[in-house]
Amino acid sequence: MTTTTTHQATAATTFTLPAATISGTPHQIANAEKTPIHNAATGALIGWQEHATATEIDAAVKAAHASLPAWRATSPTTRGKILKKIAELIESDRDRLAAMQMQVSGKPPFEANLDVSDAAATFSYYADLCATASTFAAEPIELPDNTVTGERHYEPVGVAALIVPWNFPMVTTAWKTAPALAAGCTVVLKPSEFTSPVEHMLAAIIAEAGVPDGVVNIVNGGGAVGAQLTAHPLIDKISFTGSTASGKKVMQAAAEDMKRVTLELGGKSALIVRADADIERAVSLAIGGAFANAGQMCSATARILVHDDVYRKFMAAFESAVRAIVVAPPRGDDVAMGPLVSAAQRERVQSLLAQGVDAGASVAFSGQLDAACGDGFFMAPVVVAEPAADNVLWSDEVFGPVACVKSFRTDDEAIALANDTRYGLVATVVTADQDAARRYKAQLRAGLVWINTPQLIFPQVCWGGLGLSGIGRELGLAGLRSYQELRHSIADAS
Ligand code: NAD
Repeated sequence: MTTTTTHQATAATTFTLPAATISGTPHQIANAEKTPIHNAATGALIGWQEHATATEIDAAVKAAHASLPAWRATSPTTRGKILKKIAELIESDRDRLAAMQMQVSGKPPFEANLDVSDAAATFSYYADLCATASTFAAEPIELPDNTVTGERHYEPVGVAALIVPWNFPMVTTAWKTAPALAAGCTVVLKPSEFTSPVEHMLAAIIAEAGVPDGVVNIVNGGGAVGAQLTAHPLIDKISFTGSTASGKKVMQAAAEDMKRVTLELGGKSALIVRADADIERAVSLAIGGAFANAGQMCSATARILVHDDVYRKFMAAFESAVRAIVVAPPRGDDVAMGPLVSAAQRERVQSLLAQGVDAGASVAFSGQLDAACGDGFFMAPVVVAEPAADNVLWSDEVFGPVACVKSFRTDDEAIALANDTRYGLVATVVTADQDAARRYKAQLRAGLVWINTPQLIFPQVCWGGLGLSGIGRELGLAGLRSYQELRHSIADAS
């Protein structure tokens, strides 16, 4: 991480991260606009992130554009070896990466380590795809005319703008950077200004692994920097993860030049507990689905639907489990939940909760904060029972530790309640009945359905949602293809 200047107020301890890293060179700007970066678990100011201006954004995109011909000409095997090296370096730097993740986001150690594992696994997976000859080979097409032959082939889409939020910075950056590099694209990454130290570390690893200068460039700042990046005419593809509101603006910006887009946006997902469910397992999945990462997950299953017959039993066990969640700064394995990312995010969540309660929602029970929480941006988990269908807590993405529970009587009713949203990211079903599970898989409007499992994510399985949850898929082979253009050729066979 580049730490070349310090801020006067806390000169001994803070760092200032450069506005951009272009062709491997950090660019700091005199009198730059800056965002303060806090330790979410203590509230302490730890550094500043400079914002890029139009000059750095243009230079970064041009560097990526100039590096494209050489990078796309490398063989998939070469790219795969570099990606594998990145995965290995992430693993060998695990402790430092996890520590930075804990410092910036306040994640408990097990969550910070999960992020490191996920990032390494993603680079490793795309390295393996690069090493598989069929991934990049032209595919013959059977044609009804034997005087010609047809082929489909995949070419890199070009320069990709990768825009990342703050909730899983290391993971989201890996999900975008690994397939983009595997495909032969060059990139300009725009991390969230609140968690960018993580991406600065990752960028150093990517350079150390042998990715040539200019192939991965970074511009820093907030929405305005992201918007300028998406509007740049030399960007061919935008992969954006963030809120649905910002995603709509990205899609509008992309329309001007017909830039390709992948949008991973918000969600308001359901967890369904059937009458035949193992209640202990249902409670454990509900806790993970609603309160992992302090609820700051696009995939949060914060709408919990419980069959009438097991509602009381579920609620009693859920209450004990919620009260037992240890909410504290990162320390040992006892900590289950960390803080929200910022004071502003906590205010936003608390104000949505107040709005929901004012409109008639009632809090059934809450968890508690550990004495060590101090000035960190912590909030205890909250469970709301039976909110009205139009209550904001039931209808809107809260992006914090607030879960709603509603009862249902029939599978039809549960499916209708789960699907009563314009989002469609994920769903979880807890049931002992395989036939019922099949029906839910078919009828729930979601990009990924988990049956009796936690929110398992593998690089082999695509991620992405329906409706307002976005467009396109990340991870898997489709994640690679999203950085490629599908092309065809027809040739005279003689
Ligand atoms: P956000 O939309 O405010 O910001 C996301 C990123 O986009 C940031 O880097 C931001 O600076 C940038 N940005 C903001 N406005 C922009 C614009 N007009 N043009 C280009 N870039 C712009 O979201 P956030 O608050 O950082 O993150 C939370 C949101 O992200 C939630 O809605 C969550 O559901 C979503 N999310 C989705 C997924 C998924 O995979 N579907 C994963 C994680 C987070």
